Amino acid sequence: MFGGAFDPPHNAHVALVQAAMAQLQLDELRIFPTGHAWHKPRVLTPAQHRLAMARLAFAGLPGVVVDDREMLRAGPTYTIDTLRELAREQPGAQLYLIMGADQARALPSWHRWQDLLRAATISIAERQQPERAGAGFDAKNYPQGRFAPLQLPPMPVSATQVRALAAKPHNTAQGIAQLVPGPVARYIEQHHLYLAP
Ligand code: ATP
Repeated sequence: MFGGAFDPPHNAHVALVQAAMAQLQLDELRIFPTGHAWHKPRVLTPAQHRLAMARLAFAGLPGVVVDDREMLRAGPTYTIDTLRELAREQPGAQLYLIMGADQARALPSWHRWQDLLRAATISIAERQQPERAGAGFDAKNYPQGRFAPLQLPPMPVSATQVRALAAKPHNTAQGIAQLVPGPVARYIEQHHLYLAP
């Protein structure tokens, strides 16, 4: 399970998914664009755009499925609820929760995080940007958890950076072309996403 706002999905998300498929030898990797992300301070781009971009970004990766159930859920959505649903749908499956180090650092603020640790193996990829690094997270502080490291070449890209570049219209095509998959860049341009008001 790999959740995120994907506002927009970018190359590090794709690289992380590919690394997880290969290193954890997953049968399937499900991407969950968030619905109402209670922990993100800003208003997210409408769900249908984020879903469309996620489908474009992860298309063609064998075993990777974009799952829209969190977006369809009314009210706040919690990872633990989704994990529980997956466990019911696929009894006996070994579940992994994949995330970047900035998310891992916030683990104790996640809804029912102790249950999360019981329900899934947590697999964490380091983040490059100093402000997003995982400082403060130490798996040793969670003896009840199961952790599987994920090796990811450093990718100093964030959705924040993509949105900032896309806010300048003359920048859209070239500016973000190095940071997001081509079809996502075209989608952003066609739908005038992230332009400054
Ligand atoms: P924003 O800049 O808006 O906060 P973001 O780039 O962090 O967005 P999200 O959709 O919030 O993107 O991230 C989804 C998941 O991908 C999170 O677990 C996050 O830690 C991880 N992730 C995002 N970018 C990277 C990166 N460059 N390296 C490693 N993990 C990443």
